[in-house]
Amino acid sequence: GTGRDMNITELSERITRGDRRALSRGITLVESSRDDHRAQAAELLDLLRGSGREALRIGLSGTPGVGKSTFIEGFGMYLLDQGKSVAVLAVDPSSARSGGSILGDKTRMERLSRAKGAFIRPSPSQSQLGGVARRSREAVALCEAAGFDVVLIETVGVGQSETMVAEMADLFLLLLAPAGGDELQGVKRGIMEIADLILVNKADGDLKSTAMRTCADYAGALRLLRKRAQDPEGFPKAMTVSALELAGFSEAWGEMCALTQWRRETGHFAARRAEQARYWFGEEVRHALLAQLQNGPARQDMAELAEAVAAGDMAVSAAAREMLSRLGR
Ligand code: GDP
Repeated sequence: GTGRDMNITELSERITRGDRRALSRGITLVESSRDDHRAQAAELLDLLRGSGREALRIGLSGTPGVGKSTFIEGFGMYLLDQGKSVAVLAVDPSSARSGGSILGDKTRMERLSRAKGAFIRPSPSQSQLGGVARRSREAVALCEAAGFDVVLIETVGVGQSETMVAEMADLFLLLLAPAGGDELQGVKRGIMEIADLILVNKADGDLKSTAMRTCADYAGALRLLRKRAQDPEGFPKAMTVSALELAGFSEAWGEMCALTQWRRETGHFAARRAEQARYWFGEEVRHALLAQLQNGPARQDMAELAEAVAAGDMAVSAAAREMLSRLGR
């Protein structure tokens, strides 16, 4: 756990030196909701902010069974072969995988979890997606400071989790399964709009021709989307891969590198990170305010004013204004 007499400066130095145990400990610290831990985490993140290191942060989403674990294991090993170090984090708000999550991920990514140069961390266990995402974003920052070249952030395709992962990633990949034309409609437009690359997985054996047709369908759908300023010609793109046969990785990685290089040269890369920093700052403040309303001394004021409203002694808007002015004090 996070020891009582933890020296944050020393921890930050050890993380910067690439010490895995220190990194794990740092992540445990940022995941803790205890007040003193939150303060230490803030101090740690502030110390590491100046590390000057920049990983490529890649978000990856897909429904259960589409092949995320298989893809991450294969693609992670591919990146290691390219001389890149890889950290894998998960943002998983669902309780479906809780309990078995650590073991499940470790056994499913067995080779990668044992490989030197790779680091795998399961999703923090918090009930609220917002909490999971805020802590994961900080874990990404720690991995970056630890010197990883690539940080893969995996999420299951549910609700808002994709949007939140896209908000902490430089690139966003959507993994899809080969499917008939009707099922194409099942992918929500919003998800298509945040994807940089659509990878149709399982393009092997009997599924290969279906995968290629699916890929062409999605390529067509992507062309109908509004062109984004942060994209060069031809993006977002759809491609086929086989996580099982380790096929299409170099092509997909080539596209990721080309897109990243273009965004760096045009300033979109840095602009996106700046925009993300603004977003998470707002999230953090909004969350802290809500927590203050629910847990802090303000809770008493809330209850008191709610009673006044219920009794008809105050109008809703007047009571709300009064509450906000009390908060400001
Ligand atoms: P996840 O739930 O998205 O993490 O999916 P998994 O990686 O656990 O894969 C789900 C199932 O699909 C497993 O039985 C895999 O063996 C299979 N699978 C994953 N990738 C491929 C692939 O490229 N081709 C084929 N044929 N099967 C795959």
